[in-house]
Amino acid sequence: MVERSVRNITDRFRQSGRKVTPQRVAVFEALCEGGGHPTVDQIYREVRQRFPMISLNTVYQTMEALVDLKVVSPVGHSLEAARYETDPAPHHHTVCIACKRITDVFDAALGRVKLPRAVKDRFQVVGHRVEFYGYCADCRSPGATNR
Ligand SMILES: [Zn+2]
Ligand SMILES: [Zn+2]
Repeated sequence: MVERSVRNITDRFRQSGRKVTPQRVAVFEALCEGGGHPTVDQIYREVRQRFPMISLNTVYQTMEALVDLKVVSPVGHSLEAARYETDPAPHHHTVCIACKRITDVFDAALGRVKLPRAVKDRFQVVGHRVEFYGYCADCRSPGATNR
């Protein structure tokens, strides 16, 4: 349902009263083209190829605004660097704490996880995402390096 195009993101950004600059559009483009679960740093490196003067802070602020607008959502809570979800479809994740790889998990049963009744009274849930953290196939084997 959500069409994730540069144009769509630009419109939402502008409608929220925020200023759309060429640098910010470049961030939107990096998100739409890259997909996956990028870090701010990855987006920054991508955008810097076209805008060498862009600051890391500008990328941070743009990503924060995009979280506000629900264009992206933070994922990978078991990792130290913030990552952003670019896929609007509901899904879950495995997160490798060694190589930091985040892999999408699509499973209907995980979508049916329920909040305990006692919590339900005081908390209104609008969504949930399951994150399994551990080691991926490449990192699991003994002797694998820790990065
Ligand atoms: Zn791994
Ligand atoms: Zn994902």
